[in-house]
Amino acid sequence: MPDDGPRSSLRVFFDVDDTLITWDGRLRPHAHDVFGALRSRNAELFLWSGTGRRWGVAHAYDLAEFVTECFAKPLSRHHERLAEHGVPFVPDFVVDDDADVVAAFGGTHVPAPLEPLEDDRELLRVISDFELRFRLGDST
Ligand SMILES: [Mg+2]
Repeated sequence: MPDDGPRSSLRVFFDVDDTLITWDGRLRPHAHDVFGALRSRNAELFLWSGTGRRWGVAHAYDLAEFVTECFAKPLSRHHERLAEHGVPFVPDFVVDDDADVVAAFGGTHVPAPLEPLEDDRELLRVISDFELRFRLGDST
């Protein structure tokens, strides 16, 4: 995959099932806060899923304004199968309940949400992980 040259934004890919939404389709707490925080840190946000492009989830939960594009996600041989899934670049940071995907690209592993859902704070770790990974805020 060719390098696409200098760019100013970091590409963050969120898994959907058991990462952003529960098994029965409820949005995980703090999703809007985290998406907004990442966008304000100049990240470009993408959703990807082993079941295909999930614009329906983005629209259902008013997340579409934060999301640049949705992709299908390779479930194995993650790097080498990006192109065949139509993903045109390598994620800089991923958020996923599948530890293999996080191991492949780096990012935050989140366990599937537990009940009571309103107490779930796992997504909030994404902001500090993202800042640490890219050493944001060093100058302060
Ligand atoms: Mg998942």
